[in-house]
Amino acid sequence: MSDDLDMTQFFIDLFIGMIIGGLVGALIGRCRGRLVDGLGWGIILGPIGWLIVALLSDKRPKCSLCGGVINPGVSRCCHCGGEITPGTIQDYERWKKSKGSVES
Ligand SMILES: [Zn+2]
Repeated sequence: MSDDLDMTQFFIDLFIGMIIGGLVGALIGRCRGRLVDGLGWGIILGPIGWLIVALLSDKRPKCSLCGGVINPGVSRCCHCGGEITPGTIQDYERWKKSKGSVES
């Protein structure tokens, strides 16, 4: 009987830990354009997952003029004011796609 209770408590703790791990991971990943990665790693590995997400490369497109991160939907860099063209942005195609999804 008490064994069953311990197991139940163990799984409740595990479940809560996974939720917290996933949420923190998602928060860390979000500001790096890796929300889903952060959520997944946080759920699976907890604090170790947060570390992995923090070490993953930033997926967001960057302005090649100033290196600043460019948000979807903008036509000018918010850091240096440079116009965004295929030559001034890394990963331009993906950025263009995200821009289209913002507009529609
Ligand atoms: Zn810039």
